Amino acid sequence: MSREVTLEDIVSLCKRRGFVYQGSEIYGGEAGLYDFGPYGVELLNNIKKSWWRRNVHLREDIVGIDSAMFKHPKVWEASGHVGGFSDPLAECKECHARIRVDKELGAIGVIADEKMSEIELNKLFDENRDKIKCPTCGKKNFTEVKAFNLLVRSNLGDFTGKEERPVYLPGEACQGIYLNFKNVVDTTRMKVPFGIAQIGKAFRNEISPRNFLFRTRELEQADTQYFVKPHENKEQYEKIKADRWQWYVKDLGIDETKLRWKQHDNLVFYAKDAWDIEYNFPSLGFDEVEGIHDRTDYDLSQHTKFSGTDLTHTDPHTNEKYIPWVLETSMGMGRIFMSVVCDAYTVETMENGESRTVLKLKPELAPVQYAVFPLLKNKPELVVKAREIYQELSKKYVCEFDDNGNIGKRYRRQDEIGTPYCIVVDFDTLEGEHAGTVTVRDRDTTEQKRVKIEEL
Ligand code: ATP
Repeated sequence: MSREVTLEDIVSLCKRRGFVYQGSEIYGGEAGLYDFGPYGVELLNNIKKSWWRRNVHLREDIVGIDSAMFKHPKVWEASGHVGGFSDPLAECKECHARIRVDKELGAIGVIADEKMSEIELNKLFDENRDKIKCPTCGKKNFTEVKAFNLLVRSNLGDFTGKEERPVYLPGEACQGIYLNFKNVVDTTRMKVPFGIAQIGKAFRNEISPRNFLFRTRELEQADTQYFVKPHENKEQYEKIKADRWQWYVKDLGIDETKLRWKQHDNLVFYAKDAWDIEYNFPSLGFDEVEGIHDRTDYDLSQHTKFSGTDLTHTDPHTNEKYIPWVLETSMGMGRIFMSVVCDAYTVETMENGESRTVLKLKPELAPVQYAVFPLLKNKPELVVKAREIYQELSKKYVCEFDDNGNIGKRYRRQDEIGTPYCIVVDFDTLEGEHAGTVTVRDRDTTEQKRVKIEEL
């Protein structure tokens, strides 16, 4: 390949081929919001299915839930989001662009501790002001730093408009799991250690959404919260980490050299350990796709305190009572979607010298598994046979019928969306020594083989 792939290439393919569109595009677009198009939603659903299979269906010790997005307002007080879910923000006085002070400081090697007060952060920012340029206009003229809460407020059930009881959209998907810990214990045969999994939407008033699906204001998270006996965290934590890595490599087929572990330097006060899985994104470099956190009894203790409902667990064998510790895995679907597309994106030069763009997705993740073409559009006998095969395969697989343009162009279209197999119905399918066979073309090798229709 002649040049390095950029994030721009990925964004452009996603738009051009109906994977991802800018949110509210016809109104000029809304920052940090994206819509998944016809191929995007198929790929997204396949990633979710793969995650659910590994984390729920293949696990006797994990069950899934789907909790309501709106929750009692106190949930977000208990979780610490009302008081502490904020990003430190400064505004450029010249062009009014906003920066995340912790990220900008991090970029010049200065660590802003999550526990720092606004005063301490301002002091640190002041000491480094001369090194931080506005990413938009390049000037160095910023306001002071202010903590900006990321929770998105709504008015569910508030008919006065006075917001006396503000409700919030979820800042993270995992809270619904803690709220249902007791329900699951009381209504299923789950016993500690066990986990609860959920895929759910989250909303964050991100100051500067950017880098395509990497930092958005509406996102979807896939979480497992694994409940263990106090102090029995270490071994499970290692097992969970190993299993998460396998999902990326084995199930998603991501190139292992593009993944790495990163341990957190600054742990929140209740945490025992925290690691991120990072992916090496084109143009961006390595950045977080998933966090795996050893969180002690913080979550269930907080909800016990704020709700007044005792979430103490009684061991059915020993009668021992304790608040379980939580091992959390939390990943953003958008970032995983982006990693999968980036990893599969390939530009190749073919034998005839032309180049082709191919998404080398694992077949089970591909938005379309089989494309069926009649060789010629204007030969009804070919079209009828091709439609017949398309309809039969559609009972089991996601298929596409295409009779538009020459075969080469049709192959190129399917390569770009990652379709593993293209089936062509030609005159040999209908009569002669190869009657009853079609050609099947492999996306990655471009090799074509004649296969009997009933063996497809
Ligand atoms: P960051 O430091 O990048 O803001 P975070 O550490 O706050 O992320 P978590 O709260 O641990 O992230 O969320 C778990 C996962 O959710 C992340 O690993 C990421 O994949 C995803 N995620 C978080 N914020 C966003 C966002 N604004 N846009 C897209 N994905 C996100």
